[in-house]
Amino acid sequence: MKITDVRTRRFVFRPEGQPFHPTWRPFPEREQDVTVVEVHTDEGITGIGAGGVLTRLNTVAGLFVGKDPLAIEEHWHLLRGIAHFMGRPWPIEVALWDIAAKKAGVPLAKLLGGKSDRLLAYCSTGEIHPLEQRVEDVLRIRGEGFKAVKLRFHDPDWRVDLKTLDAVRKAVGDTMTIMVDANWGWYLPGDRAVGRWDRKTARAVLRELERYDVFWIEEPLYAYDYDGLAEVRRHTTVRVAGGELNAGLHEFQVYFDKGSLDVYQPDCTFAGGVTVAKKVAGMAEAAGLLFAPHTWTNGLGLAANLQVAASASNCPFIEFPYDPPNWLPEYRDFMLTEPFRIDADGYLRVPDKPGLGVELDEGRLAALARA
Ligand SMILES: [Mg+2]
Repeated sequence: MKITDVRTRRFVFRPEGQPFHPTWRPFPEREQDVTVVEVHTDEGITGIGAGGVLTRLNTVAGLFVGKDPLAIEEHWHLLRGIAHFMGRPWPIEVALWDIAAKKAGVPLAKLLGGKSDRLLAYCSTGEIHPLEQRVEDVLRIRGEGFKAVKLRFHDPDWRVDLKTLDAVRKAVGDTMTIMVDANWGWYLPGDRAVGRWDRKTARAVLRELERYDVFWIEEPLYAYDYDGLAEVRRHTTVRVAGGELNAGLHEFQVYFDKGSLDVYQPDCTFAGGVTVAKKVAGMAEAAGLLFAPHTWTNGLGLAANLQVAASASNCPFIEFPYDPPNWLPEYRDFMLTEPFRIDADGYLRVPDKPGLGVELDEGRLAALARA
């Protein structure tokens, strides 16, 4: 089998209703701008991938044409080189894995190890809602089947968010697992400059979170404050999670060496492909730690990370980005023929079709295509 082309197609989807106000951005999101990468082969198998914003990736097609798509470890080194000057090309690598699993006729999760065919989903919220509304939200999603929810801390005074956590915990008792994401791993100019936590603040927050049996605190400090994360982690019983946007094995090795994290969250579309995410899962397993990849990009990104997550032995939850009314499966997965949904028991099933197991909704996408 040989690669015949690498193409990108850009689609812009503008949902009806309110814009989405994610805590990790100082401006609202009014549309989803998604670039889908396609790797074509001479056997008619096409691999797809998408993640964050991609630029000019079609210009590197010549580096892959004529090569064996299944020599992924070899292509990975080339992609790492491309990553140095063109952003994050990892959806190409995801597309190669999609080809490999389609060629084998199995879901990618099975090709990678096949630990599970479903994972417990946590409802990953993205906005700050007023306290009463957030309590109602969580009770409603519990009614939909969710057994776990992740809340955002965002206020310059973390005690404000703590009140919401307190109210949610009181409302659900011990029926739900709760995670907290502080989103301090990275930030954009203008975003919460005043509220950034220093190490002492992070430790103070965690003393409180322990009382609410929080399963993990995500990104309490900057992603590259390896020592700070290690210090915070040493002083709390709450798991420290992070690594969603880190790049490559070497950065993760520093986390392991310093003892910075309990839960490793490499997103395969950002952090070095399926190859790195799978290796980090193994490194975490050897250290007695957890793996729970970030999935928040779009339906194709969720599809890829779900496959890796389901292949690992140490993944307790899959992130399910969902925050009604402004972030819904049909927005997130607008490019797919079928949006991902959890089952009545709160699990997200791995699609049983080969590869990533998803299909592009070409009929709908024709109207959303952009140059
Ligand atoms: Mg996060």
